[in-house]
Amino acid sequence: MINQLDMPTVLFLQKTSYIAGALTLGYLRLTSTESRGVGLLVASFVVLAGGSTLAGHAEIHPALYGPLSLVNIVLAVLGYCLLGLAFVVISNPDRKIKTWLVALPAAATLVIGLTTAFHLNNTYRATTFTFLGCLTMAATAIIVLLDAHREPLPIRKLVAAILGCASVLSLIMGLEFAFNTFPLLDVANGFFLMILSKFVLAISIVIFISERQHLKIRRLADRDALTGLYNRRFFNSAVPSRLHLGDAILYLDLDHFKQLNDRWGHAAGDEVLQIMGQAVQAILPPHALLARQGGEEFIVFLPAEADDAMFHAERIRKAICDLRYPSLPADITVTASIGIARASQAGSDLPYLCREADRALYLAKAAGRNRVCDADAEIFPQDQQRLAAIGFSSGVK
Ligand code: GH3
Ligand code: MG
Ligand code: MG
Repeated sequence: MINQLDMPTVLFLQKTSYIAGALTLGYLRLTSTESRGVGLLVASFVVLAGGSTLAGHAEIHPALYGPLSLVNIVLAVLGYCLLGLAFVVISNPDRKIKTWLVALPAAATLVIGLTTAFHLNNTYRATTFTFLGCLTMAATAIIVLLDAHREPLPIRKLVAAILGCASVLSLIMGLEFAFNTFPLLDVANGFFLMILSKFVLAISIVIFISERQHLKIRRLADRDALTGLYNRRFFNSAVPSRLHLGDAILYLDLDHFKQLNDRWGHAAGDEVLQIMGQAVQAILPPHALLARQGGEEFIVFLPAEADDAMFHAERIRKAICDLRYPSLPADITVTASIGIARASQAGSDLPYLCREADRALYLAKAAGRNRVCDADAEIFPQDQQRLAAIGFSSGVK
């Protein structure tokens, strides 16, 4: 079927594919909040469609061949530079880029065309166009893959693969144009495959943006907005409901936090929660999970392989004591009380251990705060009395 395509049909297909791609992506640009860079891709498709239209006109209006072919190659260069830039921005929207730089290669092509008239030679024009496409798409394929470390979207590999294939296709076409022999792909077949690759690229970008939005929504659902830590909902879904022997749950509650808020203001309280949350996160052993329960309360899952839960709890307590906060005077120490409960033969389901860790936390509060208490530890009569005084008596061993 492909062999029956003639050049005017191919150019028509090329133009319509760019317009269809531009419309699809333009809709995405208008409706999505995560679409930085998509506008550049739309611009690139529009510019490439314009270049392709002029190429068709240049063939049927010999009198205008010179200027039309010059504008054609200038638009082709601009279109490919916009395409490359679009992928670089879509891949990492936080990247700082001077967008106007994209016009420089097109301006250089215009100047070279005006001074050398190279554009009048079809071979030179086609070779410039295809080699530039090869370079921009190979470079952007690499960038899309390298950005995976900061945002590991599964679609990245597919986008990079399509860009890589389109780059190889352009290389083959470029070499064939340069040597004016077409052993692998004739011009019509080559252009047809290039059109197809642009279509697939447009669709893959729609999937790319949708994956990015999905990831953002997941993050919003799983994380606490103030501290960036996991929230209770995520904790309950991530920690197995039946724990292994030796797994531990830690309940952590900041001491006299209401007084801190009352004295230094809620903004200072928020800052304490943020700094303290990140500091605890940084010293947790591998595979431990920290979440904000709510308010100034946090929960930690310590797997059995993390070993001594008491050691980790003490380490966390001391680390919190040593923290200083920009909004508080340097001599103010914020402390935390921590309760520990370990999975044992007698009880290893998560709700039970949470209740036990909560009970141990109350023990720590009753015993004077800024300390770690173990739910398995023996309770002295004076502690029993303190617990009774704060209304906590059930389940005390
Ligand atoms: P205790 O030592 O017994 O735990 O006393 P406490 O003052 O820490 O406990 P209490 O439950 O009386 O007060 C908790 C305070 O935490 C009250 C509330 O205003 C504050 N708080 C809860 N969430 C936030 C928050 O997101 N930001 C700030 N700044 N304060 C919060
Ligand atoms: Mg508290
Ligand atoms: Mg509390």
